[in-house]
Amino acid sequence: MSRTAEIIAVGTELLLGNIANTNAQEISQALSGLGINVYWHTVVGDNPGRIWEAVELARNRADIIITTGGLGPTYDDITKQTICKAFGRELVLHPDIVEQIRAVYESRLHTSMPDNNIRQAELPKDCVIFDNPVGTAPGCAFEADGVHALMLPGPPFEMRTMLERHAIPYLRKLSKEVIVSHDIMTFGMGESRLEELLLDRMRDMTNPTLATYAKPSEVRLRATAKADSVEAAEAMLAPVVKDVTAFLGDIVYGVDVKGLEYACVTALRERGLTLATAESCTGGQLAARLTAIPGVSAVYRGGVVSYWTQLKADILGVPAEILDAHGAVSEPTARAMAEGVCRVTGAQVGVSVTGVAGPDRDERGVDVGVVYVGLCTPAGTFCKALNLGKRRRDLLQNLAGNHAFDLVRRYLTGRPLD
Ligand code: ATP
Repeated sequence: MSRTAEIIAVGTELLLGNIANTNAQEISQALSGLGINVYWHTVVGDNPGRIWEAVELARNRADIIITTGGLGPTYDDITKQTICKAFGRELVLHPDIVEQIRAVYESRLHTSMPDNNIRQAELPKDCVIFDNPVGTAPGCAFEADGVHALMLPGPPFEMRTMLERHAIPYLRKLSKEVIVSHDIMTFGMGESRLEELLLDRMRDMTNPTLATYAKPSEVRLRATAKADSVEAAEAMLAPVVKDVTAFLGDIVYGVDVKGLEYACVTALRERGLTLATAESCTGGQLAARLTAIPGVSAVYRGGVVSYWTQLKADILGVPAEILDAHGAVSEPTARAMAEGVCRVTGAQVGVSVTGVAGPDRDERGVDVGVVYVGLCTPAGTFCKALNLGKRRRDLLQNLAGNHAFDLVRRYLTGRPLD
């Protein structure tokens, strides 16, 4: 039987929307890897009554409660006190921890410890102490009435350090299962169509499971297995990933790949080719996404953001006749931009994007969503004409960028370009 957990983030700042609850996200990710089901995320302000209510609710519906925040020295840091009250545990002062905190103040902060900090050395009776090498407040864990309560600090770096050093090892001993997932990344088919195609497979699956998650303009298929060990889970996943990947064919651009640009960079490395980008409506997005990948300089020469029509002629050498006769958003221009950027940079593969991102038509009356992606390769130049429809400007730019990367990856991996 898998265990169930609830994460309680304590802090009025979270409720006010001043900060995002990234700690809950990180703790959830860790628990998922341990095979522990997280069924609830609760956020509660620094209020004793409401923290108590949240803990009462949690202890009646989860086997594991993990709190984050409220371990500080000030009067509104009351997580420990409230948990102890809810579980009927007393707080015990640990003089050795007082001395450790005093030492942190004197050696690291070069000041004497305020008296308030003594509260941080009070911990529930008979708990497991989680030391805090990067802050002052220790965390802790105890079991009462079959429920494990773990208390972690709020500052994300302290929380993360304690999670890795103490909470995960503590929880690993409780859980007999691990959960392993693999993401099959697809581009070119909507989520509902994909689900329809996979429905028979998905319906009959209980372990491993297959679920779809739509990212903007692409779909991630997550295969997840629960087993006694990572090796056993991997063995269960391998045939599923193989089967689904083969079944979906060309639309799969990788497994556990972070994005289409990563697939392109890997393929460029494998083929020993270099790439350059010529952008208009995406405004440098292709270049930004590529240069976010460490080590990409081995395969990416650079890019030109030729937003103004004259730059398409002056820098990329798009002939004036093409621009006059067909306009900046046209197939001949996209082709000439891709060829031009290869000429300028010496790259073997050039990709270009020109289109109307909206919200209005361009000066020639071309509709919002009309996009041309040009691809110049040693085997010739190709162009894909797209009508992406009227969408929000940023979504259109992102989708146009993904189409450009998809075209590059299709060419590099020998897939059909259409
Ligand atoms: P401190 O000793 O700093 O008082 P604490 O354990 O009492 O630590 P809080 O005072 O609740 O923690 O939070 C300290 C800071 O940590 C907050 O100001 C906020 O920036 C960050 N923080 C707290 N909770 C979260 C959370 N759930 N997700 C992300 N950041 C958080």
